[in-house]
Amino acid sequence: KPRLLEDEDGGVIFLSSSYSSSSSGYGYVSIEKQRQRLPVYKYRTAILYLVESHATTIVVGETGSGKTTQIPQFLKEAGWADGGRVIACTQPRRLAVQAVASRVAEEMGVKLGEEVGYTIRFEDISNPDLTRIKFLTDGVLLREMMEDPLLTKYSVIMVDEAHERSISTDIVLGLLKKIQKRRPELRLIISSATIEAKSMSNFFLSSKRRQALEGEELRPGLEPAILSLEGRGFNVQIYYVEDPVRDYVQAAVSTVLLINDKEPPGDILVFLTGQDDIDAAIKLLTEEARSNGKNSSGLIILPLYSGLTRAEQDLIFSPTPKGKRKVVISTNIAETSLTLEGIVYVVDSGFSKQRFYNPISDIENLVVAPISKASARQRAGRAGRLRPGKCYRLYTEEYFLNEMSVQGIPEIQRSNLVSCVIQLKALGIDNILGFDWPASPSPESMIRALEVLYSLGVLDDDAKLTSPVGFQVAEIPLEPMIAKMILSSNELGCSDEIITIAAVLSIQSIWFSAWGAQKELDEAKLRFAAAEGDHVTFLNIYKGFLRSGKSSKWCHKNFINYHAMKKVMEIREQLKRIALRLGIVLKSCETDMQLVRKAVTAGFFANACRLEAYSHGGMYKTIRGSQEVYIHPSSVLFRVNPKCVIYHSLVSTDRQYMRNVISIDPSWLTEVAPHFYQQQRHNPTIH
Ligand code: ADP
Ligand code: MG
Repeated sequence: KPRLLEDEDGGVIFLSSSYSSSSSGYGYVSIEKQRQRLPVYKYRTAILYLVESHATTIVVGETGSGKTTQIPQFLKEAGWADGGRVIACTQPRRLAVQAVASRVAEEMGVKLGEEVGYTIRFEDISNPDLTRIKFLTDGVLLREMMEDPLLTKYSVIMVDEAHERSISTDIVLGLLKKIQKRRPELRLIISSATIEAKSMSNFFLSSKRRQALEGEELRPGLEPAILSLEGRGFNVQIYYVEDPVRDYVQAAVSTVLLINDKEPPGDILVFLTGQDDIDAAIKLLTEEARSNGKNSSGLIILPLYSGLTRAEQDLIFSPTPKGKRKVVISTNIAETSLTLEGIVYVVDSGFSKQRFYNPISDIENLVVAPISKASARQRAGRAGRLRPGKCYRLYTEEYFLNEMSVQGIPEIQRSNLVSCVIQLKALGIDNILGFDWPASPSPESMIRALEVLYSLGVLDDDAKLTSPVGFQVAEIPLEPMIAKMILSSNELGCSDEIITIAAVLSIQSIWFSAWGAQKELDEAKLRFAAAEGDHVTFLNIYKGFLRSGKSSKWCHKNFINYHAMKKVMEIREQLKRIALRLGIVLKSCETDMQLVRKAVTAGFFANACRLEAYSHGGMYKTIRGSQEVYIHPSSVLFRVNPKCVIYHSLVSTDRQYMRNVISIDPSWLTEVAPHFYQQQRHNPTIH
């Protein structure tokens, strides 16, 4: 019999339905006891035996079973890090790398950055002489292959969160399979939260079969071992909304308040999609909790998304004080990458931000899109760690059963492949279409990527990296278009400015998210706004920040995120070092912003758009693919609508919006990318 839960304000009505079982106890205990209680602990001997005897071991186990934090420690205890060797563990997400590394350092009682360290882009907290267990993003591992193609310092590489099928994970897996042939002593562990690992096993199996066919002698242990950890989740009761919700942020907030009113203590985890809707939800929740008074003072409301400071991360993991209830509002990072201990209630919006790429229009954007059933199950599972929990799905049961896809699509099949192709080329993989992928990308996307790289001057007629540009672009740890922009700025004499712009573009936003203070934020923006566009506006902000003596007060006054600015300074320093290594001399163009715009064009010509109509808020079309796009309201060029612009990225909601926009002169396009703009297929004029 479905139970009804009603919200007096008429917001959300849920229907219930049952879900998984199995249970065991949990309470407050010492770190050592906590370790022993994790499901993975029982499998210590089995894991060590399998790793010893198999080149590849696949470990499947529910989130929170201890895979990430424990397996590297088991390996270290068993001697895999002796003799100066290192155990690596990769994660798709930067925040997960930081959080997990600091947890493991704490468990081992060592200082983070010494025996246990981590590396993410622009942040290396490891020590080549001391670090024995190293956490890193799969993207960083790819970079390390450029220096050391066989990854010789690692004895075991654990590719974690393989079910996420991030683009870098897939590339890393393909490359590790190659490395294994040259380094039979290397051990791989592929770990995953779901049974998806089966296809992973087939991927490694197929190589065995192929070798068998080629008559190569089969070494024992070449076939991957699969170990499945027994789960320990408690029963989770699932509730569905009766009717589809129109606004999932509002619905999520109502649901949290409803839980807070009616349900016994226990923390709440809410899944939304990104910083924008998370901040909106926090604002709304804070207001509504305040206005409806009763019982809501006990809420501790915390965001969880990438780019949080260490202090903010610590709050998320710290135990909830007695009499309080934590509400963590998260992106899908809390789906499998991080486990929060006290969660009893999960609110699932049913959406996440996903990358989508259309090779026909050559457009990639971030879209708020429905999650898969596999994700929905993972999210619900987060509620059952402590004791029987509840999951409130903000979609109907009918939708879940009949419309949600079973699995997500691997990122490599929905991404622009420009970065991927250049990295493989830099690693000497020339036949990219013939590369052994866990999931093959589409040939159209490949061809598009090759074409853009050719136009950027990165690849030559034989699709080999050009010298020096191609090699230099590959060496800069940023997307190729930004790297090319930096190289061009050297010729144009504005590298000082462009490096600042590149640093700003590589973080999410330098603005302080100001829900409810939109007007003040807009006014603050106007103080820095440059007629040329957002990139030049960033330069004004950067100058202002320096002039203020890097003051946090100044940031606060101007609605600028102080932590983001500090990060910009750090990244800028690192880019400066990389630039110097590449022989780029830092030079300022002073006030000549035309040079800056030209440098941006040299990198991002593929993102050029022309204004089609002033009506409807300024409709643009991409010059190459004739796709309809609009300037994002957060841009300083919103409503200004210059004739011809270049965007940095697209986000899509009701329309395709261009974020970070700069105005350009269309004649520059044929100048910097004649190949790209002269052999027009759809749209030959660019005036
Ligand atoms: P899995 O990788 O199988 O999902 P983990 O190894 O990440 O599991 O987590 C094992 C345990 O360690 C969980 O109980 C989790 O709450 C705890 N844990 C992991 N990271 C942290 C952290 N940064 N702070 C506190 N506890 C953590
Ligand atoms: Mg994990």
